Amino acid sequence: MKTPWGYPDFDAHEQVSFIQDEASGLCAIIAVHSTHLGPAAGGCRFWHYDNPSDALTDALRLSRGMSFKNAMAGLPLGGGKSVILANADRTKSEAMLAAFGKAVDRMGGRYITAEDVGMSVTDMIEVARHTKFVAGLPAEGGEVGGDPGPHTALGVFLGIKAAVRHKLGKDSVEGLHIAIQGAGSVATGVALHAAAEGARLSIADIDKARVQKLANASEATIVDPSEILTIEADVLSPCALGAILDETSIAALNVPVVAGAANNQLFTIEDGARLRDRGILYAPDYVINAGGIINVCTEYLADGNASLVRKRIEAIPARLNEIWAESESSGRDPAVVADAMAMKLIGRG
Ligand code: NAD
Repeated sequence: MKTPWGYPDFDAHEQVSFIQDEASGLCAIIAVHSTHLGPAAGGCRFWHYDNPSDALTDALRLSRGMSFKNAMAGLPLGGGKSVILANADRTKSEAMLAAFGKAVDRMGGRYITAEDVGMSVTDMIEVARHTKFVAGLPAEGGEVGGDPGPHTALGVFLGIKAAVRHKLGKDSVEGLHIAIQGAGSVATGVALHAAAEGARLSIADIDKARVQKLANASEATIVDPSEILTIEADVLSPCALGAILDETSIAALNVPVVAGAANNQLFTIEDGARLRDRGILYAPDYVINAGGIINVCTEYLADGNASLVRKRIEAIPARLNEIWAESESSGRDPAVVADAMAMKLIGRG
């Protein structure tokens, strides 16, 4: 029998709570990977899993990722994540969100939730009726808060600029060709920043209306989703799905730089070395995409304003430069270097 300890993604998580509320139909998992640096922060994913064990794998993997992301962003937060196991129709009710809020509250502040895939700001408002351990709520009158997407996009764009400087020796993306996978919240921000600086864009999304809207706004060329990972460009910015970089896709890449927002871009940790061996500079995903959590953290701790959020996001390129410098001096690839740095920061070095 597979035990929680036997899961490949179990990594000495401090706490994993399984929640069932029969009245509302809530079935959820809250995983706290580490509270070494502070309360475990990470969003709640509302997702239909064909197999419930995939939900546990997701919670374990994503919460560990949050520990690494928060540590590398210099935030006083640990790493956690929750998943709500949706039914096949993805029915979400007020009672379910209330039960989830109460479950978060029972964690006593060891876990702070926010939006993730399938959860909206409106859902978080409902959850917040039952617990104060929530972030990602709407910002009012100059306060910090709201949708983390634009903040993630700013960090990713600054990270792309750092990568371009490091790999191509260019101070601007003007005239460079950037291929963006996805035309959602973060991809839109990245595309608009890059277009404003004069980059030439190719974008792909399975959602035709979204990709058309973004193409109109950024003068990008629309590319078929099946081609975006192989087109010749200066930068590939994955801003859609995880696990897109594996042995096969890496062999077919036609870019010197991969720098984008998607979480868990590498299929396995060995894929970091595959990128390095092909001479492709990789920006570790949880380092470059930390802008959103930086905003969420500043909102939750109420320790700064919008200009401090921006200053904190502007520190992302320096962290990437540190990783690339260490990678070049040690011969280890950037993904391995980032993991080692993060492990040290959470006291597991
Ligand atoms: P989103 O849902 O707004 O956009 C994702 C887009 O990807 C959608 O338009 C979807 O249609 C598209 N997509 C799905 N499959 C695709 C495929 N095969 N080819 C091309 N496009 C495809 O999500 P988002 O908030 O923009 O996040 C994008 C990525 O960045 C996700 O991996 C997310 O986990 C990660 N991320 C987001 C944030 C944030 O603040 N929103 C923060 C950190 C990381």
